[in-house]
Amino acid sequence: MSDASATQAAPGEDVREIIVVGSGPAGYTAALYAARAELRPLVFEGSVTAGGALMNTTEVENFPGFPKGIMGPDLMDNMRAQAERFGAELVTDDVVEVRLEGDVKEVVTGSGETFRAHAVILALGSAYRELGLPDEKRLSGRGVSWCATCDGFFFRNQHIVVVGGGDSAVEEATFLTRFAETVTIVHRRTELRASAIMAKRAHDNEKIRFAWNSEVVAIHGEDKVNGLRLRDTVTGEERDIDATGLFIAIGHEPRTALVKGQVDLDDAGFVQVEGRSTRTNLPGVFAAGDVVDHVYMQAITAAGMGCSAALDAEHFLAQRG
Ligand code: FAD
Repeated sequence: MSDASATQAAPGEDVREIIVVGSGPAGYTAALYAARAELRPLVFEGSVTAGGALMNTTEVENFPGFPKGIMGPDLMDNMRAQAERFGAELVTDDVVEVRLEGDVKEVVTGSGETFRAHAVILALGSAYRELGLPDEKRLSGRGVSWCATCDGFFFRNQHIVVVGGGDSAVEEATFLTRFAETVTIVHRRTELRASAIMAKRAHDNEKIRFAWNSEVVAIHGEDKVNGLRLRDTVTGEERDIDATGLFIAIGHEPRTALVKGQVDLDDAGFVQVEGRSTRTNLPGVFAAGDVVDHVYMQAITAAGMGCSAALDAEHFLAQRG
């Protein structure tokens, strides 16, 4: 944590208007709006996953404007190019430290450089929790998914497994029954952790089955998922089941370690913002996308929040004079 008085810019030191940290739909949209407002945003994209979560997927069918769908990486390349076209400066590096409390915010990169700005937009995203199985990443977008809203449509008349026992797992499973022939909820225990009403809805749904005391220990398939191996958590016995879809619904980890202790977080670790704005507890610090939102978690909602963050930052800078 820093002392506010310590972060005044020295005379002649370059202090930007806006720094954006993160390069998913939220970060690139914020950069696009800020660039078009001539605020010359500097965007730190991250060194490993520049482009965000959609770089790890195949077809995206629910981003408006692409009637035939678009590959996730192509969509992100387009967003990046659009932000760059209006003057956003993009840096493929990680931000490893921030000092956000002063009038001038400081951002330190993995290569050891420090950059300063009057406003910072946090668009750090969140990571879906993984099972940690060897084939999970390889078959992501090929039967393995973390998002029923995004991918359910691809699984019409198929046998799907949902892993998890909380509200989001049951909600995903219930949603998937619109498309699937059967949905099997695989849960380590003998009863769901989901709220009673959600659990009842799942029990009453004739397409939903349960594999209690079970965990997925292997995913079968060369190019796409064609089966799973389950292990009984009590007896240790293993069995194979047919499934062409595996939806993993065991939670998300917001990427907030960088700002913890400076920016207020909620109980689940997501950045807290004021009402419907993107304003955090710190003046001049804004947050957008999945690092804030654990309800909708879609590319379009992240992009929408990125737009709001740029407009909120623009307003803040204008009032600052
Ligand atoms: P992200 O996309 O997660 O981007 C955050 C970025 O910030 C990352 O690039 C990360 O590297 C960078 N970053 C984080 N920390 C730092 C740091 N310290 N320094 C520099 N950079 C940093 N949504 C849909 O609407 N439709 C779909 O079809 C769809 N399919 C999906 C498929 C998969 C496999 C996954 C994982 C998600 C999918 N989603 C889909 C959800 C969607 O991708 C997310 O909701 C969206 O990407 C969130 O955008 P974001 O900008 O908030 O964060």
